[in-house]
Amino acid sequence: MLSPDRSSGYRYDRQMSCLVRIKSFMTEINIDRFLAILKDEVTSYQVPVVDLIAVQTRDPFKVLVATILSARTKDETTAKASSRLFAKAPDAAALATLDEEEIRKLIYPVGFFKNKATYLAALPAALSAFGDKVPAELDDLLTLPGVGRKTANLVRAVAFQKPAICVDTHVHRIMNIWGYVQTKTPEQTEMALRRQLPEKYWLTVNSILVAFGQGTCKPVGPRCDICILAADCPKLGVTPRRLSSAAKKDSAKTLRLISWNVNGLRAVEKKGFVDIVQGLGPDIFALQETKAHPEQLSDTLKQIDGYDAYFAQADKKGYSGLAVYSRLKPLAVTTGLGQEEFDSEGRLLTLEFDTFYLVNGYFPNAQHSLERLDYKLAFNKALHTFVDALAARKTVVLCGDFNVAHKEIDLTNPKSNEKNPGFTPEERAWMDGFLAAGYVDTFRIFNQEPGNYTWWSYRFNARARNIGWRIDYFVVDAKSKKRVKSATILSDIMGSDHCPVEMMFTL
Ligand code: SF4
Repeated sequence: MLSPDRSSGYRYDRQMSCLVRIKSFMTEINIDRFLAILKDEVTSYQVPVVDLIAVQTRDPFKVLVATILSARTKDETTAKASSRLFAKAPDAAALATLDEEEIRKLIYPVGFFKNKATYLAALPAALSAFGDKVPAELDDLLTLPGVGRKTANLVRAVAFQKPAICVDTHVHRIMNIWGYVQTKTPEQTEMALRRQLPEKYWLTVNSILVAFGQGTCKPVGPRCDICILAADCPKLGVTPRRLSSAAKKDSAKTLRLISWNVNGLRAVEKKGFVDIVQGLGPDIFALQETKAHPEQLSDTLKQIDGYDAYFAQADKKGYSGLAVYSRLKPLAVTTGLGQEEFDSEGRLLTLEFDTFYLVNGYFPNAQHSLERLDYKLAFNKALHTFVDALAARKTVVLCGDFNVAHKEIDLTNPKSNEKNPGFTPEERAWMDGFLAAGYVDTFRIFNQEPGNYTWWSYRFNARARNIGWRIDYFVVDAKSKKRVKSATILSDIMGSDHCPVEMMFTL
């Protein structure tokens, strides 16, 4: 089977089972996937100043003024100038008491501060036509001094949560780089996005792409070498930043690792598993709950192009089991913990590489009446001892289905699940102790938000309603935390009751 190669303008066509040249990238990117990835990604970035002010105040006047100040100005400068101005003029009435010269001094050195001072001095009079309040409608906003389409849309979206797409230079540029639109001006981009971007993204797309455009996909020298979208982005018209030879060496060594409880490898094969592997293109893809012995797998699953496959299975057929697909050749592969009671269940598969161990684990489920809680805690304890011994030698990356939500933030209904398997005090206490002993839950390095789950019941439409649990993890030993570049949840990948989790990691 052939591999997709988007960077040279090819994609894998499922029906034709071959690579086809991409004539236009117009519809090639998966916008849902891109925006979902970036939504997680930018939580660790600096928040665009206008969003910050909106979160802090929810005051349309301050959002409007900060937006006017922010044009062609660095966020840091806008934040300081806004704060000086709001100290003297927190509302339109107070702004009316300042003359243009005072405003100029307060907002200096924002870009075009003279023009902006003129606009702001005229603002209170213009607002009087709307009862001294900032209007929410686009046409009304456009009558205000210094307010163009971009500012008006941003104020509507951020201050009033109205469906509006604010297209600034970052949104215009990045949407064209992705080939999602093919436009010459921000205004054309706004119109194109109004036609094709699902409305659920209108309010958030600006803050996501501004943060991303300032942090990674920069106007000059975008940082494609570390970009989380690099494998899938067509990079139209882009000249990536030039790297020193040392930096090149480093970036070439960033690995994409993915872990997924597939709930049956043969079942997920029928749902497009091989296309998912080729589409995501990880360096290492670790699977849990494969429920198959290798001889039960199709040749396609045993030989995915570009990967070597390694398996561990339970004695009992159709139960538990693990697989790892790897582009890198391991130095050694071992199964189990060296304890028969656990190893007969196919719960651990370890690959040793030059600079790290990849430990793929499928932790036992404590079961409904907690009849396997003691077994699970014994497995956890043995695993802790096992990875401690590895970590004494080199970096440990432990991934898999831990079958425990660690904290209340990690599931939708913590109170009603306090005594249920996967959230018992005993299981959570083990996780507390394990992390305290020198391991890091990598997802929480980058994301402190609730509502991020990796497993949803098949019942009650739980996935669509996002009633879920975060029980799949990438954990590293604390000394190796600095090697972790990102950790995300790929919640749009379907095929199992779990979704994959991903970690970018320096080799
Ligand atoms: S940084 Fe590079 S890979 Fe990432 S979105 Fe921008 S152009 Fe694409």
